[in-house]
Amino acid sequence: MLVTIGIAFVNNLIHQQSDITSKIFVLAMLDLLAIYWLVERGQSLLGSILFLWSLYLLVTLLLITNDGLRDPAAIGYTGILIFAAMLGDKKHFIILAVTMALSFIALGIVNDFGWVDYSATPFGWGIVIDLLIIYIVVSYSAWTLANDLRFALSSLEIENLRVKESRREYQKIAHFDQLTGLPNRIIAVDRFNQAIFHCQRNGSKVALLFLDLDNFKTVNDSLGHSVGDHLLQAIASRLEKSVREGDTVCRLGGDEFLIILDSITNEQDISCIAIQILTAISEPLIIDSNQLTTSCSIGVAIAPKNGDGFDELRKKADMAMYKAKNAGKNGFLFYDDDMNKDMLAHIDILNSLRDAIDNREFLLYYQPKIDLKTGKISSAEALIRWRTPDKRLIMPNDFIAIAESTGFIIEIGEWVLYEACRQCKEFQNQGLDEFSIAVNLSSVQFRRGNLEQIIVGALSSSGLDAKYLELEVTESLLVEDVEDVCQQIQRLQLMGIRFSIDDFGTGYSSMSYLKEFNFDYLKIDRVFIKNSLDNPNDMALCEAIIVMAHKLNLIVVAEGIETQLQKDFLVAAGCQYGQGNYFSKPLPVKKFYQLIE
Ligand code: C2E
Ligand code: MG
Ligand code: MG
Repeated sequence: MLVTIGIAFVNNLIHQQSDITSKIFVLAMLDLLAIYWLVERGQSLLGSILFLWSLYLLVTLLLITNDGLRDPAAIGYTGILIFAAMLGDKKHFIILAVTMALSFIALGIVNDFGWVDYSATPFGWGIVIDLLIIYIVVSYSAWTLANDLRFALSSLEIENLRVKESRREYQKIAHFDQLTGLPNRIIAVDRFNQAIFHCQRNGSKVALLFLDLDNFKTVNDSLGHSVGDHLLQAIASRLEKSVREGDTVCRLGGDEFLIILDSITNEQDISCIAIQILTAISEPLIIDSNQLTTSCSIGVAIAPKNGDGFDELRKKADMAMYKAKNAGKNGFLFYDDDMNKDMLAHIDILNSLRDAIDNREFLLYYQPKIDLKTGKISSAEALIRWRTPDKRLIMPNDFIAIAESTGFIIEIGEWVLYEACRQCKEFQNQGLDEFSIAVNLSSVQFRRGNLEQIIVGALSSSGLDAKYLELEVTESLLVEDVEDVCQQIQRLQLMGIRFSIDDFGTGYSSMSYLKEFNFDYLKIDRVFIKNSLDNPNDMALCEAIIVMAHKLNLIVVAEGIETQLQKDFLVAAGCQYGQGNYFSKPLPVKKFYQLIE
C-alpha cells in the first residue's frame, strides 16, 4: 500500500494534478507507517481496522477534493472492501460497505444540488496511471485473498487427514497390542460375546485357552528385552497359525495369551488344538542369532460348562493354566471345580502368611541324617512346619512357593536360620558333641536380602561354630545369576559352612556346576530311591550318581529311604549317609531328643 501510494504521489507531482492530493498522499503514507508499527507490535486487529478506515478516508478525501463521483479513485472502494473481507470481521465489513454507499449518495446529492461543481477533468495520462495503480492493487488483493483461501482449504484438508489418521491410530492402540499386532483384551471380550451368542443359538461350545510361556522371564533376564520382544512376536505368529480360521488369538500382556475357540462341538477338538499349539511353540527358534527353545502351559475353560461370562471363564482358564504349570509345564489342563478349591486354599495361605510371621506360628521339625555304615546320627535336617491358630499343621510344600513368590521367605528363612542354629547349639549343650544342623535355603534368599549377614547373625547369637552348619540348596539356584551365587557360596564356605546340593536329579542336573561349586554333600532325590528297586533305570541312575559324586569328592546322602531293602541297596552302592522314614520321620524337638536317647 505504501509503495502504491508513493507511486500515486509521484504521479500526482509529475502530472501536477492537485496540491491538496499530494498532501493527502503524504498524510496517508504517515498513517500507514503508524499502522505498520502497530501491527509489528502485535496489535494486528487494531492495525487492520485503522488500515481499512484510513484507506476509506484516503479514497473519500480524493473523491471530495478531486472529481467527485467521476474520480477514478472511486474504484478504490472495491479494493478496500476486498481488504475488509480479508482482514476485518463481518461487522466492520458491513459498516464500511454501508458508509461507502452513503458516501456515494452524499457526493451525488452535493453534485445534484450544485453545492460543488464536479466537472470532469480533461483527459491526462495521470488518470490512466491512477487507474492502473488502483487496478493492480485491487487485483493483487483479490489474488492474495484467493490464495489465502486455497491455502486455508488445503491446510484444513491435511488437518482432516491427520485427525482421521490419529483416530485410526488411537483405535489401533486401544484395541490391538503394539508389539505383536494381536487384538487385546477389549477385542477379546467382544469376540467372546459374539461367540457365546452363536453357541447359544446353535448349541455348540466356546473354549477359552489361557496360555503362559514357561521360561519367558529367564529369556528376558538373560538375553535382554529385545530378544524377549522378538520371541513374543514369533510366538504370536505361531499361535495364529496353530488355530483355525475364525478363532481369535489375543495378547493379554507380558507373556500371557488368550485364545477363543468358537463353535466347538467336540471337546476333543480343543485337546487337538492345544496339542498343536504346544508343538508349534516348542519348535526351536533363532532370534538375534540365539537358538531358543521355549514352551508354554495352557489352561482351558469351556462355556457353557464352566460358566458363560468372560471374566469368570478367563479366571478359570487362568487357574487351570496355573495347575498345568505346577504339574510340570509344557502341557494343558481343563478346568475342574477342585482347582477352584485349591485356588481358594492358595489365596487363604497367601492372606494368612503375614499374620503367621507376626504371630510366630512356625516351628521346626528335625529329621536325622544317618551314617549308613555305623547307624550313628551326627546331624539333622531342619524342616519347617506351620501350625495355624486352629492347630492345623501346614507342610512346607503348601506354603514355601507362595512365601517365595511374595518375598515372605526372606523373613521366614531368617527365622529358620536363627532357630536352627540355636537348637543345634542346644543339642550340643545337651551332650550331642559335634552335632550339626542342615538348613534349606531358597534361591530368593540369595537374590534378595542380606543372606550372609543373617547367617553371621544366626551363628553369633547362638554361639554355634560355622562348621556345624550345613546349607542345602537346589539345582535351580545354580542356573540363576551363577556368578553372584557362586561368590556368595564361596564366601560362606570360607567361614567354614558346608553346602549340600539338594534333590539332585530332579532339576537341570548339569554336571558343570558340580565342578564349579565346591559342594560337600550331594543328596539324591527321593524319587530315585523310591523307585530304585522296582525300576532298573532308577537303580542304574542311583549307582551312577553315587560313582560320579565320589569322583567329584562329594559325600552322598540318599533322601527318603523307606525300607531296609532300599538301605541295603544304597550301602552296597557305596552311599555314605541316608535320611528317610525308615530311620525316622521329621520330628518335633522333644521327640527328636527321645529318638537320640
Ligand atoms: P527337602 O529339603 O528335600 O526335604 C526332604 C523332604 O522329604 C521333607 O519333606 C521330608 O519330610 C521328606 N521325607 C523325608 N524322608 C522321607 C521318606 O522316607 N518318605 C517320604 N515320602 N518323604 C520323606 P517336607 O518336610 O515336607 O519338606 C519339603 C520341602 O520343603 C523340603 O524338601 C524343602 O525343599 C522345603 N523346605 C522345608 N523346610 C524348609 C525351610 O525351612 N526353608 C526352605 N526354603 N525350604 C524348606
Ligand atoms: Mg533339604
Ligand atoms: Mg531334598
